[in-house]
Amino acid sequence: MPLHVVSHPLVDDVLASLRDKTTPSEEFRRLARRLSVLVVAEATRDLPLAEATVETPLERASVKRLATRVVAVPVLRAGLSMLDAFLELVPSAEVGYFGLERNEQTAVARRYYEKVPKKLEDAVVYLLDPMLATGGSAALAVDGLKGLGARRVRLLSVVAAPEGIAHLAETAPDALVYAAAVDRGLNDRKYILPGLGDFGDRLFGT
Ligand code: URA
Repeated sequence: MPLHVVSHPLVDDVLASLRDKTTPSEEFRRLARRLSVLVVAEATRDLPLAEATVETPLERASVKRLATRVVAVPVLRAGLSMLDAFLELVPSAEVGYFGLERNEQTAVARRYYEKVPKKLEDAVVYLLDPMLATGGSAALAVDGLKGLGARRVRLLSVVAAPEGIAHLAETAPDALVYAAAVDRGLNDRKYILPGLGDFGDRLFGT
């Protein structure tokens, strides 16, 4: 399973503040959006283009326009932090939602909500889920997307754990994973170390 770690000085700088436990929610939201712009830019680098022409104020010009259907699927609730950035860069994207929650005791994921565009065969589908921990939620989501016909799935995350990457490589080897950082591993409660804590809680101040 191809893994792309987004390497950029601005990514490292934003990540430093996201990891800092003293960063308040309001600032955390802004930083998550800024970091998402960088991850989305990297993850859309290879989207296909088609030749077109436009009239500039001076003459006709050959241009290139995006030539594929793009679908963004944030995983509720932390994935919402990446959606604005995604739509800023790909305004034509269709949007679906997966509601996944993991059991606090077992860390096993369960899907409680799904509203995703159908017939995804011709789309490049971006799953937005900032923390790739055990990989259980991501695998469940990729499976759901494949059930809707998706052939090209990309998971956009902020921090990934080796355990989650390994799990996804096993269960969804053809999905691409983009992460701003790969951390050391998981603790016994399946939180990423050093990580940044519970992304959803820090985002929404819960
Ligand atoms: N989800 C989070 O928000 N943080 C982790 O460290 C792991 C899963």
